[in-house]
Amino acid sequence: MWPTMDLRSWAKAFILDRDDLPFDLFGTSKLSKIDNDELASELHAHLQSVGKYVKAASLVQYLSDPLVQKRFGMTSTISLATAKRWMHTLGYRWLRDHRGQYVDGHERTDVVKYRQDTFIPAMLKNEQYLQKWEKDGITSNLTLSPGKRQVEEWFHDEVTFYANDRRHSGWKHIDAGSDPRPKGEGASIMVSDFISADRGWCRSPDGKESAQVLFRTGKSRDGWFTNEDILEQTSRTMDLLEKHYPNSDHVLIFDNATTHLKRAKGAISARHMPKGTKEWGVDKVVKDVAGKPVCGPDGKVMKMKLPMEDARFADGSTQPLYFPPGHEHAGKFKGMAVLLKERGFKVDKLKAQCTGFKCKEGATNCCCRRILFNEPDFVNVPTLLETLCMERGFRVLILPKFHCELNFIEQCWGYAKRLYRLYPATKKDIEMEANVLKALKAVPIECMRRFANRSRRFLDAYRRGLNGKQAAWANKKYLCELYLNW
Ligand SMILES: [Zn+2]
Repeated sequence: MWPTMDLRSWAKAFILDRDDLPFDLFGTSKLSKIDNDELASELHAHLQSVGKYVKAASLVQYLSDPLVQKRFGMTSTISLATAKRWMHTLGYRWLRDHRGQYVDGHERTDVVKYRQDTFIPAMLKNEQYLQKWEKDGITSNLTLSPGKRQVEEWFHDEVTFYANDRRHSGWKHIDAGSDPRPKGEGASIMVSDFISADRGWCRSPDGKESAQVLFRTGKSRDGWFTNEDILEQTSRTMDLLEKHYPNSDHVLIFDNATTHLKRAKGAISARHMPKGTKEWGVDKVVKDVAGKPVCGPDGKVMKMKLPMEDARFADGSTQPLYFPPGHEHAGKFKGMAVLLKERGFKVDKLKAQCTGFKCKEGATNCCCRRILFNEPDFVNVPTLLETLCMERGFRVLILPKFHCELNFIEQCWGYAKRLYRLYPATKKDIEMEANVLKALKAVPIECMRRFANRSRRFLDAYRRGLNGKQAAWANKKYLCELYLNW
């Protein structure tokens, strides 16, 4: 239970600034504290400010600060064993190295390269056409030269609400997907939506049309949210934007999650190619007219082999992956070695791939698969999502991996969840759904804009060449403001 004084000061803070809801009003003693978004979020920011390498002891030290303890209703710091467990929970991007330190996946060379060379330049293109929101989240300015159109950035993401303990899904690995929940957490509802700082959740002006998708994850419910679901939702969202907001250019921004990055069956990929010449293709599940997978006599799902599409040489001409008719291996897959030789690489002594395709960081010519993987035509295969949007004239951006701080929708989910936890527990799906919708609707637009500005500041810090550690420090001021009323 919260001491009276704290409750009163919280109530006051709440009236002054509804962003300052405490996360733990009713206590969650049965749950580990780390399952609370607020604490996890602060530790996440702290770890990032420590740098690329951190030790679990850093958490112990941070939580020994009485001010931090007070904020989270703790009376002492945690043990080193707990800290290690928490690192694991926070570990969607903290990878343990052999020296017992934790390495920040956020600062991985390939991730940083993508952030600096691809993502930031693409975001900067929008910069001068964006509405700039002041700190109050009410006033804004945008001056467009004649003939220029406003750009609106729409961030997409998914989140899951749980009926019983309604815990955050945790800092699981970004590619983990929606895994089955253990029994006891009750029903869950997944929400998938788009948000912009200018308009909030993506809705028509009268609120009747919506980009939001609710999904009951799990067997015998709606199944799992797949790439087809994302494509369907995105398609509907583009309809809505074209119909109601045709005077702006819309950019759709997605997380770097496997579900979002699916490519067309048969699109070139070096991932599973054999090194040598052989019969080879892409597995495709055989489906009946209703779209259901067909099972063979052995009861297993039937698959057929689909040839992969042509690759492209640097000059743009096509490179067929299969030998032509008349060749001694006519119709067979050439194999990585032949494909690379045709591109001028000497690969005779090169192995097919490094063990588990876990090449040394930064290595580019260690194995056949890595070389092919990095070839421009293999890198630039558009995803189904990109193709869908580009065909309709919408720009698509994919956030760098591990950079949830750049997607302000995350904080809006957090805000809605804090409200949701304050509602009475529900028994029926329909009641739970009503609570979820109510909580999401209650996120004030001013807060959304503050969250968006915070993400923008991170982007700015990265643009100026700051690394994750420095960017977190640069944003510390924001954290102080956030907790000023505690
Ligand atoms: Zn390699």
